[in-house]
Amino acid sequence: MAGVPSGRVHNLINIAAYSVLAGAVLAASRQELLTITPAQALYFTLAFAVGTFLLSPDLDLAEGRVDSKRHWGVLGILWVPYGMLFSHRGLSHTWVVGPLTRLVYLAVMVALVVGVLRYVAPSVTLPAIPQPISVKVVAPLIAGYYVSQWLHLIADGVRPDHGMRRGFRKLRRR
Ligand SMILES: [Zn+2]
Repeated sequence: MAGVPSGRVHNLINIAAYSVLAGAVLAASRQELLTITPAQALYFTLAFAVGTFLLSPDLDLAEGRVDSKRHWGVLGILWVPYGMLFSHRGLSHTWVVGPLTRLVYLAVMVALVVGVLRYVAPSVTLPAIPQPISVKVVAPLIAGYYVSQWLHLIADGVRPDHGMRRGFRKLRRR
């Protein structure tokens, strides 16, 4: 499809945008306009990197060869059903629900893998999620993830009302 950035171009756009954002945040905190703790910056950065390199909206192409699937190595095969389930630039490319579909899908896959591991090797101790998870941790994680996703959608030329417009168009045609 002409005009749609490739995986590599998406990565470059996200890295460039991250650099600009990091510079702006650094400048703003020097001026004491905002306070971000090193831990918050780290959580944001981690989630942004995961969103950019591992949970790209273009995983909706995972039934074929796509950059974001390649980053998973052998585990890339786990995304094939996602690629078959979601049409390219459909629900996967909406602003709010799209990023959620990948988180939910990932949670299901992790649950499946953990389930199989428990069954095959019951003696293996799996890392536990620290409880309770505080808002101070979750907020920068969600922000980093969503910003990485929205940069992808902006680069694709997908507008925030993507899903709704589609629905309306369908209604109007009838
Ligand atoms: Zn895309």
